[in-house]
Amino acid sequence: MIKDILRNNIKEITPYSSARSEFTNTSGDMIYMDANENPYGSVGGTFLNRYPDPFQIELKSMISKIKDISIENIFLGNGSDEAIDIIIRAVCIPELDNIITLSPTYGMYKVCADINDIKTKEISLLEDFSVDINSIIENINTNTKAIFLCSPNNPTGGSIVFSDVKRLLNKFKGLVIIDEAYIEFSEKESYLSCINNFDNLIVLQTFSKAWGLSGIRLGCAYSNAKTIEVMNKIKLPYNINSCTQEIAKQALKDTNSVDIFVRNIKEQKAILQYQLSKFACVDKVYNSDANFLLVKVDNANKLYSHLISEGIVIRNRTNIEGLENCIRISIGTAEDNQKLLKAIYNYNQTNIEI
Ligand SMILES: *Cc1c(COP(=O)(O)O)cnc(C)c1O
Repeated sequence: MIKDILRNNIKEITPYSSARSEFTNTSGDMIYMDANENPYGSVGGTFLNRYPDPFQIELKSMISKIKDISIENIFLGNGSDEAIDIIIRAVCIPELDNIITLSPTYGMYKVCADINDIKTKEISLLEDFSVDINSIIENINTNTKAIFLCSPNNPTGGSIVFSDVKRLLNKFKGLVIIDEAYIEFSEKESYLSCINNFDNLIVLQTFSKAWGLSGIRLGCAYSNAKTIEVMNKIKLPYNINSCTQEIAKQALKDTNSVDIFVRNIKEQKAILQYQLSKFACVDKVYNSDANFLLVKVDNANKLYSHLISEGIVIRNRTNIEGLENCIRISIGTAEDNQKLLKAIYNYNQTNIEI
């Protein structure tokens, strides 16, 4: 239970009570003289002189319908990065506690832990990038408060098998966070339907990838109501601004476009994976459940520089342990991908001449 692992200061905290959380008008014709806003209007958009809804009820009710999840099971953050930070601050005591992550994985878990002076135990993925669940379990101690799993994993692209996650959820008393930033691109099932079956499971999703809304900064955490309540207590009062709430509400009416984006990206991924695998400079293209490909090449630094010189930016991951000579390529449009292939072709030619 979340209350058994919460930090004492968080247990006892009285959250800031904002003007808009004490009174919210539903009828539409109240005179608001409670929040020191500008009554005449705004130099920006018409609705921007008012503070946003601190609990994003309209937005959550739309998400609730699409995901078939109750509003009380949804937390919205300024990107899922905010949710990661809040989870760590809720349960980890600085200088004392630790989190477990896998390696290689998304960098923000460790960064948030470092900022809060929390240790990160990094458990290496196996050679084929699968998860060594026994090694995770062996590394849990009484100060381990959260385990972050990323599925599909950034940057390796693979997913974690359900039986492993279930074993961990049953064995570990702390929080198990499954980051599903790339779930829309995956054929594997989301863990969303399990949030009420385990009292220590949190699922993260984001509008930054498949939805094409990285710029508005909106991420979701789904969990049991008690855990969500704690996260709402810790967050800044107006963490999701009015523009973000408005744009997200518009976007949620158009799930069809997301399906089309995802279909195109998956189709392009298959083409790119096949064509990349034919180059002499490419050792291996890993299978990916996400919208990127991890590729092992002959010389990642050299290829990276070459691609920059041709105006293409990819992610060089060669300095990460276990990813020597690996690059990560986000799937582009058909045109982007053709340009990338042409540029790698040119690199291959110069390589052969030398
Ligand atoms: C991109 C990404 C996110 C997204 O973070 P936001 O703050 O929602 O933009 C989260 N987790 C992983 C693993 C990612 O790759």
